[in-house]
Amino acid sequence: MRYVPFPESVLTYTDRGETVEYQDVRPSSQPLFHACPSSVLPPAIVYNPPSEPAWLGTLVHKLIAKVRLGEPLPENEAQVLEAGLVQSEDLEHEDTQVEFLLGRFAEAWGELVGDFPGPKQELRLSSPITSGTCDLFGRDQEVMSIGDWKTGSVYSNCKPQLMAYAYAAWVTYGMPNSGRISAHCIWLRMGRVDTWEFTADDMDDFEHRHFQQLEQVGKVFNPGTHCGFCPRQLECEGLREYERSAAKALIVAGVTNEVALSDTSVAELKSQRDAIKRAIDRYDSMLKARLMVKGRIECDAYAIELQQQNRASVHPIKAWPVLLDNLTEAELNDCMEISKTKAVNAVRAKAVRGKKKYAEQEFVDELEKADAINYHTVFQARKVAK
Ligand code: SF4
Repeated sequence: MRYVPFPESVLTYTDRGETVEYQDVRPSSQPLFHACPSSVLPPAIVYNPPSEPAWLGTLVHKLIAKVRLGEPLPENEAQVLEAGLVQSEDLEHEDTQVEFLLGRFAEAWGELVGDFPGPKQELRLSSPITSGTCDLFGRDQEVMSIGDWKTGSVYSNCKPQLMAYAYAAWVTYGMPNSGRISAHCIWLRMGRVDTWEFTADDMDDFEHRHFQQLEQVGKVFNPGTHCGFCPRQLECEGLREYERSAAKALIVAGVTNEVALSDTSVAELKSQRDAIKRAIDRYDSMLKARLMVKGRIECDAYAIELQQQNRASVHPIKAWPVLLDNLTEAELNDCMEISKTKAVNAVRAKAVRGKKKYAEQEFVDELEKADAINYHTVFQARKVAK
């Protein structure tokens, strides 16, 4: 076990001429802190738009934290409510995803259980430089393991976050006999687990990097894709400058003979395009909020109004006999769309634990045998890890 009291000088930084006391950087903020040290400066304007993925993530974490590892897990909405794990209003929308993610949780836990002796959920881990609550923790004399559940569908590098939990655990308990701390980032939606083994040298590097980054707080602003997660994104001059140069670069790229642009330049432009898209999204939500209050705003050339549109949707089951009476098979086919993902999730949710993959495969095979699945190729430019 070790505990190093940090010198006074690194516990403060200067923000707009004022000396501010440094607070430790939470593990969940570590990826952003590693990408841009100034992201830990407290924001003057709070920007926290509601987000469906964030809502779902909180709900699933809340649920997982309440289930007892090793005991049967609830498998569907009814069982979740019966066990009193959440309120019914929590499940008002996207319940299928909750069931799907719980199913994935059960599968992942089945595979990881051996790595987590004496497992604990929601364990508070503290150290002088980073403290937070880790989703899953297990240790004995030989091994120590950290786990973090992710419910999102966009992959990001969570190694700094896991390293921070490992660091706090190392400060608290010391290194296990194996000389390694295992860390697992479990992407429930993607069915993917990223695993790292951290040694004492890695912990020293983490600590060293932390102080290097701290030295840069308020001095270095490093804008990029990660700014989309930063609470300072509305007020950061570094990001504004990045957006200005991104807009310029995209305009130039749009009128440049594409052969003249290298692959590297085109790949780099993707981040700049994403920054501009976020600026447009922020403008759209500001415009909508203003129209919700004023109904109409004007400039010299035109006015913008908030117009209400009522859209009708058809209840598939209730409409079914009417549709059959009035439409041919081909016409019916043209106006119907069935979500394969939702249908598969419903089959998985009903199947008993351990048989979910099999039930899914059987269902898809049956659909294929009935020639009911059309495969088509879509092309999408996505950033992936190198
Ligand atoms: S908005 Fe971007 S550049 Fe500015 S502090 Fe946050 S992460 Fe750094």
